[in-house]
Amino acid sequence: FRGQVTLDGPSGTGKSSVARAVATQLGAAYLDTGAMYRAATVAVLDAGVDLSDAEAIARAVSAADIQVGTTADAELVTVDGVDVAERIRGAEVTRTVSPVSAVPAVRRLLVDRQRALVAEAHAVVVEGRDIGTVVLPDATLKIYLTAAPEARAERRAGQLGVTDPGRIAEIAADLRRRDEYDSSRADSPLRPAADAVVVDSTGLDREAVVERVLELART
Ligand code: C5P
Repeated sequence: FRGQVTLDGPSGTGKSSVARAVATQLGAAYLDTGAMYRAATVAVLDAGVDLSDAEAIARAVSAADIQVGTTADAELVTVDGVDVAERIRGAEVTRTVSPVSAVPAVRRLLVDRQRALVAEAHAVVVEGRDIGTVVLPDATLKIYLTAAPEARAERRAGQLGVTDPGRIAEIAADLRRRDEYDSSRADSPLRPAADAVVVDSTGLDREAVVERVLELART
């Protein structure tokens, strides 16, 4: 395989594990753009800027040295030389990432870096929200992964080791909130590109979704 596979969609669809498995199977590079927005959020939190000040947010992000790896088998994420791979998955970053990623100057900066990282690869799988629509409109294959909200909340709960129904309901509410926020952004709508293949992962295990994407990549 040579070319670019984009994998977009809301959180909790199993997107990351599918994207990593597909990249590995295709022998392709892998870029997690969500990790870039999360790392940018670490920079903003550490700069202690007012989250309602878009200019200060943009300044903090552009001043930081954000590095994200491009292989599927290792999660390498650093901000100013500090390993933040674990921290970017924590509650504080997850709570703050949507307002940071809504700042247009932050998106411009990160989209430019995403295109530069991808340009170096013969084959690459890129996951995010706006990859097929904005970042790589000419990609070889565009996948939009969806799943029913309940299935997404359960998947997320499973990852976090949560079994309490009340907590699962909270996770579902947080997913809905992030979806609404992400899709209300004018420059980066959470919707499939016109030429994307929509894959619904509800009731499918990861292997079935990976097989479907590989099949599409190989035709
Ligand atoms: O994919 P992940 O859940 O790690 O993404 C975290 C957040 O980063 C999303 O909720 C969204 O606000 C933002 N994001 C984005 N554009 C992307 C990828 C992620 O705005 N391409």
